[in-house]
Amino acid sequence: MDKWLAGLRIGNSFADLPEAFYSRVSPMPPGAPRLLHANPDVARLLGLDEDVLQSADFLALCAGQIPLPGGQTIATVYSGHQFGVWAGQLGDGRAHLLGEIHGPTGAWEIQLKGSGRTPYARMGDGRAVLRSSVREYLASEAMAGLGIPTTRALALVVSDDPVYRETVETAAVVTRVSPSFLRFGHFEHWGHTHARQKALLDHAVDRFFPECRQAGEGPDDTPAITLAFLREVVRRTAVLIAHWQLAGFCHGVMNTDNMSILGLTLDYGPYGFMDRFNARHICNHTDTGGRYAWNAQPAVAHWNLYRLAGSLMVLGCDGESLQDCIKPFEAEFLGAFHQGLARKFGLRDWREGDGELADAWWSLLHEQSADFTLAFRHLADADEAPEAFLALFADPAAAQAWLERYRARLAAQDWDALARRADMRRANPLYVLRNHLAQRAIEAAQHGDASEIDRLLSLLRDPYTERPGMADYAAPPPTGAPAVAVSCSS
Ligand code: AMP
Ligand code: MG
Repeated sequence: MDKWLAGLRIGNSFADLPEAFYSRVSPMPPGAPRLLHANPDVARLLGLDEDVLQSADFLALCAGQIPLPGGQTIATVYSGHQFGVWAGQLGDGRAHLLGEIHGPTGAWEIQLKGSGRTPYARMGDGRAVLRSSVREYLASEAMAGLGIPTTRALALVVSDDPVYRETVETAAVVTRVSPSFLRFGHFEHWGHTHARQKALLDHAVDRFFPECRQAGEGPDDTPAITLAFLREVVRRTAVLIAHWQLAGFCHGVMNTDNMSILGLTLDYGPYGFMDRFNARHICNHTDTGGRYAWNAQPAVAHWNLYRLAGSLMVLGCDGESLQDCIKPFEAEFLGAFHQGLARKFGLRDWREGDGELADAWWSLLHEQSADFTLAFRHLADADEAPEAFLALFADPAAAQAWLERYRARLAAQDWDALARRADMRRANPLYVLRNHLAQRAIEAAQHGDASEIDRLLSLLRDPYTERPGMADYAAPPPTGAPAVAVSCSS
């Protein structure tokens, strides 16, 4: 074993739960795995030196060929509501939790995705295709670059093994990293079993929400601790969704089994960053009804929180108290959303009347299908040099009319224009992971070329700073180019 691997401090606190919560199951590595890309940013979080990423053991670990020494490899069980319907038992069907690395920034769980069938695979083959793996790898780092809570990606391993989807594709394994991969669905699974739910709550509270133990009559007041826990999940979820809305991000499959208890973006599938703004944008072609459209995401998160709350009744909480914990969701979401929007607009505070300015903004963008990212980005200069901004609109007169209102609002605050513009450029990214950019990286990766992944990661790591020669990466997809269709197929 390599020295770096032997020297790691490793555990697996999820495996301390009773065996009912998981299965001990080894990965099935894909054939002749190769490391396509490794992420030095995440390596640093874990306390791994960059040269480790080139070692034989690193590849073997990320391919599922060797375990984390001292970790316990498991697949966890969860349930969930998919597209509004109770789906019953799901679980890590193609993911293996190798354990957690205790590094300089705390404990991080290491999970492989696409590493073979588990007892929860149902009809699935346990594999993930290169296409969706590149998308997950890029998206988690793009979100981190935007400051949006997310799971992370450490490595991308590829193989020539065929994987059968609508067409024949090839296999890949993503090594994901997160403080925890706990989902609403983990709690939904144990919603009728007091002892199990209590054990799961204790696990979550002790590791991530220790302050909840202060609630109620003492450390054993389970109903009070449960309510405090739920309030915190509600708060984190509201903040997360506000981030998504402000980035023009659509998750695509907000099933309860894809919702993180820690309020992280989790399970990147048919997600999308919007190009042209459409409030009802649906990024997932499988979602014909638009259940998970951009403008539906806050209400869906709220609905999902009710499903989580329902599963907590078994801990002795009454329905009314649980509902009371969810009530702040709307105010928490709007508070975070308005705060973020104020920053994107270059407003020092959110005042009475700003809601109408914002409504008019969204209507303008929607009616004219303006580019979401660039409309915000070019707003910084639009008070004095509006050309780049106005060029984004089919009917510049309508945009001009909105600008008049906006200028009046700017004039009502005391903020030096240079400082305001600099701050707006820190709030409005220039580069986002547009589907056509991800697609370009996928096509190169399919030929073994990771340079496009590398280039995108370097831009998306800091999407706010303009880089010379990279204008192409800030541009919307060429007009007339066919939209990249993404579906649940992964
Ligand atoms: P997802 O839609 O990717 O969130 O997956 C929903 C459920 O299906 C989870 O339990 C996954 O583990 C499982 N799943 C999805 N794809 C596969 C696959 N190819 N093999 C095994 N399980 C899968
Ligand atoms: Mg999932």
